Amino acid sequence: MESIDQFFPFLNTPANIVITCHQKPDGDAMGSSLGMYHFLIQLGHRVTVISPTNWAEFLNWMPGVGKVINYEYNKIRAQEIIDKADIIFCLDFNILHRTKHLEMPLLKAKCIKVLIDHHEQPQEEAFDYGISKTSKCSTCEMVYDFIVDSGHADKINIDIARSLYTGVMTDTGSFRFPATSPSVHLMVAHLKKLGLEHTEIHSNIFDSALENKLRFTGFALLNRMEVLYEYNTAIMHIYSQDLKRFDIKTGDTEGLVNYLLTMQGIRFGAIVIDRDEERKWSFRSKGDFDVNTFARLHFEGGGHFNAAGGRSDDSVDETVRKFKLVLSDYRQDLNSK
Ligand code: 5GP
Ligand code: MN
Repeated sequence: MESIDQFFPFLNTPANIVITCHQKPDGDAMGSSLGMYHFLIQLGHRVTVISPTNWAEFLNWMPGVGKVINYEYNKIRAQEIIDKADIIFCLDFNILHRTKHLEMPLLKAKCIKVLIDHHEQPQEEAFDYGISKTSKCSTCEMVYDFIVDSGHADKINIDIARSLYTGVMTDTGSFRFPATSPSVHLMVAHLKKLGLEHTEIHSNIFDSALENKLRFTGFALLNRMEVLYEYNTAIMHIYSQDLKRFDIKTGDTEGLVNYLLTMQGIRFGAIVIDRDEERKWSFRSKGDFDVNTFARLHFEGGGHFNAAGGRSDDSVDETVRKFKLVLSDYRQDLNSK
């Protein structure tokens, strides 16, 4: 993978460009994709954002989201667009299989592939150009840097500002996680000067739940949470019948894992949710417990030091049993000061 500044000259010649991100895009994946979209169209490129799957409804206010193609629903059209692409931007993921069924089309595409991402251990050989910076709070911050460093700061408009703010805000936990560096606040100051209304964005993201989501949260905390005090760990497991009972949709479970870390003394929080094809784990930690390594070693996953995901083909009960078994090896790490 060549460095990202080697790619900058390609921006000057109008091209067919595809932007994609990880499956079930979150605020950062969708925000960085749309921020890049609103930048590239100003340079005269023909740009399409293709999401590997659907996304949470609370992202549907975002500028340009109506033009995003859901690969799972529009495979033929998406493939036609990929076949014509000169350049594919891969945003907010480190490994091609994070794009689910888009992995093979991406592997087969012969065009230039550009990575912009902040996850640990990227699959560098899969990309021609790119930048991977785990110190960055979000891919949205990296897209901001990309626009500025390529000499186009003047192109940052209100659509770009609203898109990029979304990912910066969601991936920093509203500016509380350690990666919230001075550069993040300087960037937000710039976006505010362009007229960004940040309270509206917080409200769109966090105050748009339906009653069933709150009832489900209460149910899960009461009935599906287990606190393992000897490991300073809390876990939650959600069966598919729980999701059906409360009519839970994509995005409704986002943030549930964070409740676990709000308990005094808890350093490791984990939730497993029965998605039809697999059991999906989310891991969160506070301080020096490395959930990226934990997810890689035990649950075919990865991510960041303090936030990662994983998967299993086992049943919910079986994967929870396995989790508890491997947890016993971390007793010392989770109890050290
Ligand atoms: P979440 O728990 O919110 O789904 O994911 C936490 C972080 O880990 C996100 O940055 C997400 O992109 C990443 N992540 C989630 N699942 C996986 C996975 O299976 N593999 C890798 N490499 N990263 C993941
Ligand atoms: Mn991200």
